[in-house]
Amino acid sequence: MRQLLMVRYGEIYLKGQNRPFFLNLLRQRLKKAVLPYGGVVTLSDGRYYVTNYSDEHATIQAIQKVFGVHSLCIAVEMSKESFEDIQNTAADMIDGYNGTFKVQSRRSDKRYSLTSPEINREIGAYILNRHPHLSVDVHNPDHVMSVEIRDHAYLYIKILSGPGGMPVGSNGKATLLLSAGIDSPVAGYLIAKRGVELSAVHFFSYPYTGERSKDKVIQLASKLSAYCCGMKLYIIPFTEIQMEIYQKSFSDHTTLIMRRFMMRLAERIALLDGAQALITGESIGQVASQTMEAIVCTDAVVNKPVFRPLIGFDKVDIIRLAEEIDTYETSCLPYEDCCTVFTPKHPVTRPKIERVLKAEAPLDIDALIDRAIKGVEVIEL
Ligand code: ATP
Ligand code: MG
Repeated sequence: MRQLLMVRYGEIYLKGQNRPFFLNLLRQRLKKAVLPYGGVVTLSDGRYYVTNYSDEHATIQAIQKVFGVHSLCIAVEMSKESFEDIQNTAADMIDGYNGTFKVQSRRSDKRYSLTSPEINREIGAYILNRHPHLSVDVHNPDHVMSVEIRDHAYLYIKILSGPGGMPVGSNGKATLLLSAGIDSPVAGYLIAKRGVELSAVHFFSYPYTGERSKDKVIQLASKLSAYCCGMKLYIIPFTEIQMEIYQKSFSDHTTLIMRRFMMRLAERIALLDGAQALITGESIGQVASQTMEAIVCTDAVVNKPVFRPLIGFDKVDIIRLAEEIDTYETSCLPYEDCCTVFTPKHPVTRPKIERVLKAEAPLDIDALIDRAIKGVEVIEL
């Protein structure tokens, strides 16, 4: 008899002929996640089994960050030969619980001597006998004692949820524009959840934004990286571009032009990094640079698709998600972001592309971009 973690996958079961590819990838992702705790992962009969781990709590937390995992449970694995032993173990496991329960069994070994309803009845009666303060409720029980008869018998009570989604690496690569705010880490999370590998770019306006603001972004990127099996963070010097825009173009257009530079630079990094798309944390109408007209003007400078997974989200819903993935607190640290430093008093909200081009005309766009790319700092997370 031993204790192990039983991990179920989610959407992968929908995959037809490609299923082995997805299953193998998820196994790699799980292996990497539990490696620091000595965990060993095997796949059998449509489940992953994690054994040998040293720190159970930390191992569970790591598995709960692996996209593709639907749920997991702490299970007891034992021989299925002695039904009495199984009953005994079930009664031991439910010791300390109160209220109502039911036994839910499943047999993938159809030659087993008892049917599922018989197993439920027998174990239920045994538990009641040992723990008379419990009662059975088959419709809405407080606890479910699950018993699975496979190559061995597996018993578990609590099921913990996984993050869902698809294993990272199953759906290409994209570059996230990662600010120090609330929205962009959530946007990156949602795209990574669909199996997309990430890299991140951050525009850094030293000395207008300082080392503490950079540390904050590194901290956010590390939190995201835990879900993404690692990621590269590109810190791009942005001060020269912002100063040029500030000095040479129309003041009500500065934010919009800055956003166009961000997109061009992010696309350059995506090309270097083998990423096929860009991701931003924009949500329609949230600020002046995120009106429909402004988004049309920012999109116009890049060829790659731009994913905006938060486009239809209200801020309160974004905050709720940020809390769930544990980036909210870090995002709320007070350090300045480069956008806030140069924000005009009255930004244009309905920009026209002809006027945007006029505002950009005094700038040597290619030279500014080349110089910024030369100054990039790469951090491996
Ligand atoms: P966030 O909360 O993510 O900062 P926001 O509501 O503050 O978003 P903006 O500042 O207009 O919105 O930025 C919109 C998007 O542009 C961000 O979600 C992010 O993807 C990108 N962005 C903004 N500032 C930066 C930056 N300094 N570095 C990288 N990307 C940025
Ligand atoms: Mg921001």
